Order: sequence, then structure tokens, then C-alpha cells
Amino acid sequence: MRKYVVMGPPGSGKGTQARMLCHDLGLAHISVGAIFRWHVANHTRLGARVRRVMAEGRLVDDETVNRVVRERLDLHDWNHGFVIDGFPRNRAQAEFFLERYDVDAVVLLELPDEEVRRRVRARRRCARCGRDHNLVTRPPRAPGRCDACGGELVVREDDTPEAVEARLRDHHAAFGPVLELFRGKERVLEVDGRPDPATVQHGIRDGLGLPPYRD
Ligand code: AMP
Repeated sequence: MRKYVVMGPPGSGKGTQARMLCHDLGLAHISVGAIFRWHVANHTRLGARVRRVMAEGRLVDDETVNRVVRERLDLHDWNHGFVIDGFPRNRAQAEFFLERYDVDAVVLLELPDEEVRRRVRARRRCARCGRDHNLVTRPPRAPGRCDACGGELVVREDDTPEAVEARLRDHHAAFGPVLELFRGKERVLEVDGRPDPATVQHGIRDGLGLPPYRD
């Protein structure tokens, strides 16, 4: 059983790296942001509540987030373990999490603010399968279409310049306290998030003592 948390600023590749880490290790990928986006896209009651908050780049309240994470992990569809990305995002969430679950390591993707802004400006998400693309570093093979499923590529509602600044502010405010909590209890692996995804994944696996990534 392997349990990892992936943390980092917006655009640092949390989703991409978590997906690559799960790919051949049989781990469940749990993305709180993706769960919320599913609720928004499917017009659920929860989706209606969080839509505006998300679009403005603000954080959803802790009670809702913690409930969503608990319900997701209560499904117990993670026999080999899980990788959770985008959570915890503040001290209250980290305390909630650490009281209930033990993790093997926290992977910290580091990216300078300027690079965050640059990446987010170029980010496009598939409206159908949710896969992220980058128009500069990894342009789609067919313009405007997802490489994985052919769905339409769109700008995320929370990737506007204002929303990105709000998310960066939240990230910097919460990061220190969350990290401090984790450092006391779990292994924290710091990885440079600037290289291409395969190189970053290699660094993560090397640092965690895991077998190399196989596509
Ligand atoms: P992400 O895909 O991780 O960037 O998350 C997208 C949006 O979902 C965030 O901007 C928040 O509005 C919300 N969200 C995701 N994870 C959390 C969390 N741990 N705490 C609060 N809000 C969250």
C-alpha cells in the first residue's frame, strides 16, 4: 500500500504528475479539483454551491472539502494505495487529513511565480476528459483538440489572470504552515517542477525509490 500527497502552486503539474505516478502502480488518483469540476459540469447541488468560488480562484470551505475527501476515500477502491493532489491546501485540512490517514510521502513540486503565470496562460483543458494541454510546451497534435480523446480544448474558468493571482496568494499563505505540519510527521520530497513532465516524474520516482515510469 502506497499513499502519497502531491502539492505545489497552480500549474506546477500536480495533476499530470499524480496521473503518471498512478499509471503503472495501480494507485487511485484523487483530485479534489477534478471532483468539484465534475459536480459543476453535471449541475449537482454541490456544483452549484462551489461554482462561483472556483471561478474566482478562491478556496472552497474546509468543511465541504474535508467531507468530499472523506467520502472519496471511504469508497476504498484503492487496494494498492492512492495519490491525492490539490489537498490539503491549508492547515485545517492538513490536520483533518493527518488525524485520519498516514501517508508515505509528500511530493512538493516547486515552480517560481513567473513560470506559474506563464504556464497557466498557455493551459487548455479538455472539456470532455479533463486532460490538460499546454499550447507552448506540449501543443495538441490537432489544434484545439485533446490528444487523448479528441474533445474540445477550453480555457479553465479559474485560469483568468485575477483568479491565478488569488490562487497564488492562497498558495503562499498556506504552504508554510501545511509543510511544517507534514515535515514533523511524513517524508517531504522537494522536486523541481520546471523540466518536462517525464523528467519531473523520473525525479519523483527516484526520490521515492519507486520503479521507473513506463508509458
Ligand atoms: P485544482 O484543480 O486543484 O487547481 O482546484 C480547482 C479549484 O477547486 C480550486 O481553485 C478551488 O476553488 C477548489 N479546490 C480544489 N481543492 C481544494 C482544496 N483542497 N481546498 C479548497 N478548495 C479546493
